[in-house]
Order: sequence, then C-alpha cells, then structure tokens
Amino acid sequence: MDIEVAVIGAGPVGMAAAAFLHQAGVAVRLFEANPDRAGQSRATTIHPRTLELLDSLPGERGSLAARLVAAGNRVPAAHFAALPNRLDYTGLDTSFPFVLVLPQPETERLLAAHLAEQGVGIETGWKLADLAQDEQGVTIVSETGDTRRAGYVVGADGAHSATRHALGLAFPGTPASTVGFLADVRLERPPAHPHHWDSERGSYSAIPLPGGIFRIFGHEPGDTGLTPEEAARRQAQIPDEAEIRATLKRLADDDLGLAEVLWSSRTGDTTRHVERYRAGRVFLAGDAAHVHLPAGGQGLNVGVQDAANLAWKLAAEVRGRAPRRIIDGPRSYDAERRPIAARLAANTLAQSALMVTFTPGGKALRDLMSHLIGRNGDTADELRGWLSGLDVSYAEDGGLAGRRVPNLPLADGRTLHRALRHDRFTLVAFGTTAVPSRADVVRSTRDWHGLAAVLVRPDGYAAEVWSAGEKIPEHWEHWEH
Ligand SMILES: Cc1cc2nc3c(=O)[nH]c(=O)nc-3n(C[C@H](O)[C@H](O)[C@H](O)COP(=O)(O)OP(=O)(O)OC[C@H]3O[C@@H](n4cnc5c(N)ncnc54)[C@H](O)[C@@H]3O)c2cc1C
Repeated sequence: MDIEVAVIGAGPVGMAAAAFLHQAGVAVRLFEANPDRAGQSRATTIHPRTLELLDSLPGERGSLAARLVAAGNRVPAAHFAALPNRLDYTGLDTSFPFVLVLPQPETERLLAAHLAEQGVGIETGWKLADLAQDEQGVTIVSETGDTRRAGYVVGADGAHSATRHALGLAFPGTPASTVGFLADVRLERPPAHPHHWDSERGSYSAIPLPGGIFRIFGHEPGDTGLTPEEAARRQAQIPDEAEIRATLKRLADDDLGLAEVLWSSRTGDTTRHVERYRAGRVFLAGDAAHVHLPAGGQGLNVGVQDAANLAWKLAAEVRGRAPRRIIDGPRSYDAERRPIAARLAANTLAQSALMVTFTPGGKALRDLMSHLIGRNGDTADELRGWLSGLDVSYAEDGGLAGRRVPNLPLADGRTLHRALRHDRFTLVAFGTTAVPSRADVVRSTRDWHGLAAVLVRPDGYAAEVWSAGEKIPEHWEHWEH
C-alpha cells in the first residue's frame, strides 16, 4: 500500500505524528481540510517534555526543538491558574529547563518546514467526510468524493474531528459554563506583574510573546455560571478592539496603552474525552481525543506527546512486529495515554475553578494555593511535574519500567535523547555492565537509580530495567516478544 498511514489534519499534532512516523520509516501522508494553513494564534506555551520529544527529530539546521527554541522566548517559570506565585522550571533535570513562549502559527510553520525538508507530503484542501475500514486497510473519503486507501489512519483533525464522528465514538464530558476573553495585542503600558485577580471585577493576565506582543486573557464574573446555550452564544461574540479596551478599563482602571489588537477570541471550559483512542485501524490524537480549558498551556503539548507515544507502536504494527500488549494490552496507546488526558481534564477544571470563583472564598483558595506553590515543596513539585510533562510515567506499581529516562550523557559524547532511534529500542548500559558493542547499544556516564542497564523505547520511556547481577537476555531487542 502506497500510504501506510494517513494522518487527517495538519495541525501541530497531525504534523508531529507524521514527523515521528516518517522518522520510524513509515510511508505517511497528511490530509488537511484548510487550503491555507496559516493558523490562529492559540497556543503560546511549549513545555520541556514536548521539546525533549521534538529534539529527537533531526533536520538540516538542527533538531526541530532547537529550531523552535531559536524562534521563541525562554521563560523560567510556568503559571498554574494564573496564580501570583509561579512554578520554577530552572532546576528541572532536562536540557530544556524553561517554558518556551512561541505562538502556534510559528510552531506550525516550523513543523511544516521540517516535514517539507523530510519529503513528507501534505495534501491541503482535502477535507475528510467519511471512512470505511476492512481487514486490510482504511478507505478515506473527502468532502468532494475523492477516495484514498491507507493501511492505518490517525485522526488529528481537532476538537470537531470528522474522524471521531465517522467512527461514531462518544465524546463525553461537560459543556462550557464559563467564557473568557483573550487577545494578542500591543501595549504601551504593560503591567509590571503578569497576573491580576479581583473578587469583584474579575481577572486579567498579560504575557509577553516574541516581537513585543502581549497575550492578554481573563474572565469577568458576568461570564461565569452560564447555561450551555448562553456560553455558546457568548463564545461566538468575538471581542473587537473597542470591547478589549473597555474590558481592560473595567479590570485594570486603564487600557494599558492598548495600541493594536492583532487577534482576539474567547475561551470556554468545555471538557470532553473520547471513549476510546482506537477503533480498528483508526486512532485519535490531540484535540480530536480530548478538549479542555486552555489553562496552563497544555493541549498542544499533550497532543504532541500523544503522537510520540503512538508513532513507534503504530510503526511496529505496520511492520507486523507489534506484540498484543502494545496493540490492545497494558502498553497500548489507549492504555497509556487515556490516564494522562484524564489528569489533564481534571487539572484544567481545577484551574478553571481557581480562576473564576469570584468570591471571598475563591480569593482565600487562590491565596492558599499560591502560598503552597511559593513554598516550592511537594505541591509545587507535583504541579511542575504535570505541566512540564516530565513526570508522565507509564510505570505500574511505582517501578522504573515505564518511567521517562532523562537525557543521560553518553560515553561517545552524545546525549541519550538524540541517540534514540524511532524504529527500535536502545540499550543503555551503566558502569562496567558488559554488553555487546552495537549501534543500538550506548553507555551512560551518569548513573540512573543504580541500574546495570535500561532498555529505552523510541519515545524515551524505560521498557525494561536490569539491576547489577541480573542477566540481560542475549536478544534483548526482542522485548516485544
Ligand atoms: C486560546 C487558546 C490558547 C491555547 N494555548 C495553549 C498553549 O499555550 N499550550 C498548549 O499546549 N495548548 C494551547 N491551546 C490548545 C492548542 O491550541 C490545541 O490543543 C492544539 O491546537 C491541538 O492541536 P491539534 O493538531 O490536535 O488540533 P488543531 O490545532 O485543531 O488542528 C486540527 C487540524 O485538522 C484540520 N481538519 C479539521 N477537520 C478536518 C477534516 N475533516 N479533514 C481534514 N483536516 C481537517 C484543521 O484544519 C486543522 O488544521 C490553546 C488553545 C486555545 C483555544
């Protein structure tokens, strides 16, 4: 089959999925409804784990992560629920101990450039209307009746996913009851602190983006506690410059020197999670599988991490090498990623409650949470782990297998994340552990939990670990059997 995997939707998640699949040697093609993909501003925040994964995609001018970092602003801390005390990323065990601030169109432009450089084709103006699958593959049908055949399909076609609809999968959750405003603007008098909250007037934040632009967002008490119909009507009322100015004056007693509105929109706290990530030969990833309030800048990040988890498993399945446990067992895409999106839904709902409970009790709760974050203890660690993506773990019973392996320094001068291969596992030996010298064996110069060796999956998680004295099987690469 010419197309081993068809990816529907060339948003950030579809493009990341295609890039990872291509790197694993899969013949992949993207189908994008929009003829002109210049996207909306939306995501501005890229977290460390996402950069680690994109760092494994090499290009002519450095890794994809390096290209994103060069284009964005590095910020040392992330916010949770726009609380005054922030989550410091500077001590994290990663090559990317910061939040990267980069508007989504720029992230998408660099992803598209990477795919073009790698020769991965994107068919634009091709809108999926339906699909049908049989034992050999999937037939995808466009709105104009054009049909294509692929071995497998990844539906990364966003919140209103036609792939999800064609599969008839339920998308349970809760409708929006709160609507916020947001805009990318130029300000002559930006506030000294980014986050402001008042129990009577509401809240606003102003986050610097590259190029002297600010992302402002916030909520007013009148836009909370809405019925689903009221919320839908309010979300459709895109604020213009006059309304943004009036909103800032109500919230800040000043329009902050609003000089230009480049883009504006409204947010809602609709929270939904698809019932299954896989139906036969078709998978869902990113917003097609989960939607939530864009709080803490997580949707794009979790979606790219979905794509990395799926790609190597799907590549193994395409090659007929995948064991049951990664197709529909405990190591499957669905089994590993579903709990992550459930946690995402819960933490964004919690952030929503903290941001829009405009009462004295809401203020007390915010003060308490901000105080706990400011202590930089367990609460901060837990939230930092969630948002950064670095504590995502597929380990069972607290074991090491399933945990993310950090970017260990290697004896050959490289670091682990760049040494990982997308189409096979990598054996990392520690200390004096005897292992054969092969392309997919590396030696770490730094200890990790006192192990003798760890077998690392293409997405950087431990598949299997060996302590000193334990025998590493000769054919360890046959982990899947
Ligand atoms: C205001 C706002 C701020 C945000 N901030 C952040 C942030 O800071 N960090 C973060 O991580 N996330 C953030 N998010 C969320 C982030 O924007 C999304 O999670 C992300 O865009 C999801 O990517 P995706 O590729 O899954 O879907 P999308 O970006 O929606 O892309 C889907 C693609 O599929 C195409 N498509 C749709 N239907 C079809 C079809 N039938 N056939 C073919 N193609 C189709 C679309 O044209 C589109 O190109 C924010 C969202 C909003 C609204």
